[in-house]
Amino acid sequence: MTERVFDSLIVHAQVATIAGSAPHCGSSMREIGLLNDAAVGIIDGNIAFVGSSQDAAALEAKECLDARGRLLTPGLVDPHTHLVHSGSRESELAQKLAGIPYLEILQQGGGILSTVHATRRASREELIEQALRSLRTMLLWGTTTVEAKSGYGLDVPTELLQLRVAQELRKLQPVEIISTFLGPHAIPPEYQDRPDAFLEQMIQLLPAIQAEQLADFADIFCEHGVFSVVQSERFLEAAQKAGFGLKIHADEVEPLGGAELAAKLGAVSADHLLAASENGLRSLVSAGVMPVLLPGTSWNLRAKPARARFLIDTLQAPVALATDYNPGSCPTESLQFIMALAANELRMTPEEILTAVTINSAHAIRQAHRVGSIEVGKQADLCLFNADNPAYLVYHFGINHIADVWKKGQHVVVNGLYIDNP
Ligand SMILES: [Zn+2]
Repeated sequence: MTERVFDSLIVHAQVATIAGSAPHCGSSMREIGLLNDAAVGIIDGNIAFVGSSQDAAALEAKECLDARGRLLTPGLVDPHTHLVHSGSRESELAQKLAGIPYLEILQQGGGILSTVHATRRASREELIEQALRSLRTMLLWGTTTVEAKSGYGLDVPTELLQLRVAQELRKLQPVEIISTFLGPHAIPPEYQDRPDAFLEQMIQLLPAIQAEQLADFADIFCEHGVFSVVQSERFLEAAQKAGFGLKIHADEVEPLGGAELAAKLGAVSADHLLAASENGLRSLVSAGVMPVLLPGTSWNLRAKPARARFLIDTLQAPVALATDYNPGSCPTESLQFIMALAANELRMTPEEILTAVTINSAHAIRQAHRVGSIEVGKQADLCLFNADNPAYLVYHFGINHIADVWKKGQHVVVNGLYIDNP
């Protein structure tokens, strides 16, 4: 084994070990081990060695980094974002703080529709530039794989443009992007009294998106006043027939039955779930749907958080965490901040949280065979933190603990700085 020359070797690290073959459920979410004084070797972008630093001493490597006892984890995976859009909505902050209800802000032309207008007006270059800034922030804070939804066009050309921009972004920077078509994110103003006609238009668009391979998943906002369970089922069934994996924005505000629908259709994930009924949660867990919780959104909207402890302790379910990065309900790219909120708001332990932003979030976007754990044969996506245990990451909140990041074996963040063309 010592004849191979490693491209990189990281030695004297505390390696967070998580096995990746299946989602981690219930108490097994806490089964993260720490390998003391461990080493990880990289060849051709993949992990080729995990073992003790002592055993690694015999290995030959082109680059060697001494982690000096710090925590090495899998690259973080963010399985729910609205990455590609234009503009920001800080102008609504004062209204929000004054307690003006969201629906009233929406009626004044604010809310999601203001982002739709800005995104429709934006050029391809402007969308790319804004998303690139977000992706840079994500990488500097440890996110190496991200899911990105469309849904701020709500018309055929802009929805396609958002997906094509996401595709182009893959070539422009290192963070991997998994695309989701979220055409039915809201009802556009021109279809306010004909929501079914709009939904039909989005259904008609599915084959073209599939033919161009612009998205792996399809998603819908199933909520009172947006799309009903019946409409959501019609769209998701069509998407499933067209070959998409299914996701659903489910039961964020009211227990409408989105969780039950996710179970019925065998969705890959059901996201939000703040208001989901106990039966809804039970049925989605038995159907193998990954619950994706978004504590940044509930915290920012001052809503009651999702029931992570009920899922983990009572249902022995897996849980994944995501930012929900978007310009309205959760304008942050930082999974590290979400990790702190998961502790405080969802009462999750540091080990559960690390599992939820690595292997379980990789399962939520069907990428767990490649990313989400430190195992020989997996892609070398790694985060080295200025911390020596997972608890420190969530305890010392609000700041960036990242020292170094590797993406597909490339050393893309060095001492907290982004390295272009490493
Ligand atoms: Zn969302």
